[in-house]
Amino acid sequence: MMRFPRWMHKLYAYLLGYFWMSCTICSDMWGGHEWGENQTLRTSWAGGVGVCPNCKERVKVINDKFFKENPSPPVYVRHEA
Ligand SMILES: [Zn+2]
Repeated sequence: MMRFPRWMHKLYAYLLGYFWMSCTICSDMWGGHEWGENQTLRTSWAGGVGVCPNCKERVKVINDKFFKENPSPPVYVRHEA
């Protein structure tokens, strides 16, 4: 796959309305159009923040640790009488 220079990614994100922000882990700038699988750093069971494509491996390790240390929350079921 051809790799585009970062300035082209920035322009693409700007023109198509994607975000352009620094990665939470490495601080590199990246765009919303690059967000894919295994690029969400868990901050809770219901939430997380996106990280750049270069941090996929690191985020996987951190998330695995998160899920191991934070067992799933209880599920509440409402029973109708
Ligand atoms: Zn990163």
